[in-house]
Amino acid sequence: MKILCLSVVHYADFHAGPDRERRPERGADRLPGTAPTRDLASTMKYCPDCGGKVSHRIPADDNRERAICDDCGTVHYQNPLIVVGCVAESDGKILLCKRSIEPRYGYWTVPAGFMELGETLAAGAARETLEEALAPVEIGHQFASVDVVDAGQVHIFFTGRLTGGYGVGEESLDTRLFSEDEIPWDDLAFRSGRYALQVYFEDRGKNNGVHFHELRSKDLTLKNED
Ligand SMILES: [Zn+2]
Repeated sequence: MKILCLSVVHYADFHAGPDRERRPERGADRLPGTAPTRDLASTMKYCPDCGGKVSHRIPADDNRERAICDDCGTVHYQNPLIVVGCVAESDGKILLCKRSIEPRYGYWTVPAGFMELGETLAAGAARETLEEALAPVEIGHQFASVDVVDAGQVHIFFTGRLTGGYGVGEESLDTRLFSEDEIPWDDLAFRSGRYALQVYFEDRGKNNGVHFHELRSKDLTLKNED
């Protein structure tokens, strides 16, 4: 993932000021890692439209606090982001990527990252697999949906089948195919990716619908698991 290759979107950084150069670039900063636990909308300080200061209050026709620009009056709604990933298989083995970026540099992940505007969930999962593992895949079915509530994210996982070779993308140090008993469970990067692999193997290749899971920890990584 660029999150999972996932990033906690660092909302505080993302909205640190009107200078757009301060926005994180695509990649490491966009991966899920850790996230604030309180209302994510409250971290915006400056208006992305005009650079004015924002206040956090409940609009007259609303029922929750929003970031409202003091200058232009724009109400900036902030909503969860979608991460898409792919558990890609070839001859019974699963393709994993060893991360070359933080968070979780050097740990293994299924290819995943933030969905882009203008693409479908499945297309996003295929794109991430191509970017991180240089691997073209035929997307199968959606099988896992993980609500990462305190990070303001939803992680969606698809099955996939490699239709060609694979390599090492920019966000990876290495990519490998693992059989089930070779999966490096102790060296996985993210909780949602581990869940996806667990239910993937439980399904044994069958389409058993979507497995839903909720993660409450603000830390998306497996670094400090309780
Ligand atoms: Zn404004």
